[in-house]
Amino acid sequence: MPLLELQDVTASYASVQVLDGISLSVPEGGAVGVLGANGAGKTTTLRAITGVVRAGGSIRFLGRDIRGLRPDQVAALGIAHVPEGRGTLGDLTVRENLKVGAYLRKDRAGIASDIDYCLDLFPQLKERVSANGSTLSGGEQQMLAVARAFMAKPKLLLLDEASLGLAPGTAKSVYQAIKRLRVESGISMLVVEQNANLAFSLVDEAVVLETGRSVLSGPTEELRTMDEIRRAYLGG
Ligand code: ATP
Repeated sequence: MPLLELQDVTASYASVQVLDGISLSVPEGGAVGVLGANGAGKTTTLRAITGVVRAGGSIRFLGRDIRGLRPDQVAALGIAHVPEGRGTLGDLTVRENLKVGAYLRKDRAGIASDIDYCLDLFPQLKERVSANGSTLSGGEQQMLAVARAFMAKPKLLLLDEASLGLAPGTAKSVYQAIKRLRVESGISMLVVEQNANLAFSLVDEAVVLETGRSVLSGPTEELRTMDEIRRAYLGG
């Protein structure tokens, strides 16, 4: 049984249908990329999973139909979302942001050691642990957003465009840290990314969306060599 399985998922904003049949699955311990042009429906797919937008079709997590649940209920089942634009709390320090991520947990010792782990994973955050979120660079905010989501100890991490607006070197080091997190924690991931090279550095397989439909999927190594993928997402 896959950890997460979407079958023929649809969704609309007002009367405009933006998802028109999305199917994908994330195996336990796997990482799956979601590729596609601007407006293809990548972000909306994540919002359908988290219950932020109402969806049709079937969305199953650990075999249970989660469609129609509220975002807080979906989070409580073990799905953490790192949204596009990051959503870190500017008035709180880095350490406080990490604690907020753990708000549903009761294991004090586990929380403390996971904070240490996050600061080890992102040394730049360690240097700024008492700084307010609003004073962080874009790269540091992205690192904090990922770390904060991890602090919830989710089974599945939904990542939306973690490279957006970052310098190439920064984006690469953020992805390297996420890869390390994946290897060391075994956490499963669904990764929306415009930059297919970055996505391919992290995921085992990917699905390509076109105007609200999933049109192609396969293992990373296979997609990487396909001409249409190279032209559309890998710069030729
Ligand atoms: P991007 O990389 O630009 O975020 P995307 O693949 O994530 O693209 P979505 O953000 O899911 O695409 O958007 C899919 C379609 O839905 C687009 O045509 C977009 O204009 C439209 N859309 C997104 N959010 C809303 C909204 N709140 N209200 C109305 N239409 C929306």
